[in-house]
Amino acid sequence: MKPGLLVVVSGPAGVGKGSIVQKMMTLSDCVMLSVSATSRAPRPNENEGKSYFFKTREQFEDMIKNNQLIEWVEYCGNYYGTPRDFVESEIAKGHVVILEIEVEGALNVRKLFPECILCFILPPTYEELEQRLRGRGTEDEQSIQRRLRRAKDEFQYIDRYDYIILNDTVDAAAQRFMNIIESEQMRTCRNPEIIETFKNIKE
Ligand code: 5GP
Repeated sequence: MKPGLLVVVSGPAGVGKGSIVQKMMTLSDCVMLSVSATSRAPRPNENEGKSYFFKTREQFEDMIKNNQLIEWVEYCGNYYGTPRDFVESEIAKGHVVILEIEVEGALNVRKLFPECILCFILPPTYEELEQRLRGRGTEDEQSIQRRLRRAKDEFQYIDRYDYIILNDTVDAAAQRFMNIIESEQMRTCRNPEIIETFKNIKE
């Protein structure tokens, strides 16, 4: 069994994190996406339990109190957080659990799980990001401006991440990402049992 891995993916809104992760899940049965809880309203194409677990602010605050989240933040006026149970049980099964979260949450996860890997998705250019965000057609101008400002803030944290992944095309980005995961799973520090087995072969 390959070792379980906690992988954090960040990148500005509109950079294509969701499409890349969906593609990776078609490439490997071991890749699982953690579904976050949020107090944001659902967008037209979003489904409860698939895109997010949609909560009222009060319900979200109860989850915080009951220690049901491994991390949470308030981002652009809404709560977002990672449910604990799924992450812990899937890693124990040897799966790769992906958290698609913003930088503050990512850095909190690194403190709690130092062995996790942090990946930041980049667009080919800033202008292309702006176009993709507008092209989505799901946000009003004020929200787009807020997300673009936030993107510039998030770029300041790129060097706290382990890897950058360029999203020129979804297929190429997903393949680069899978290569990173496979290399990380083969690191000696993540495979003490296999190493012990080979070290202890008798004459
Ligand atoms: P959106 O509203 O566009 O779905 O998400 C806004 C931002 O919140 C994105 O950068 C997304 O990655 C981040 N996000 C989604 N879920 C979580 C979470 O559970 N924790 C944190 N810290 N950020 C999240």
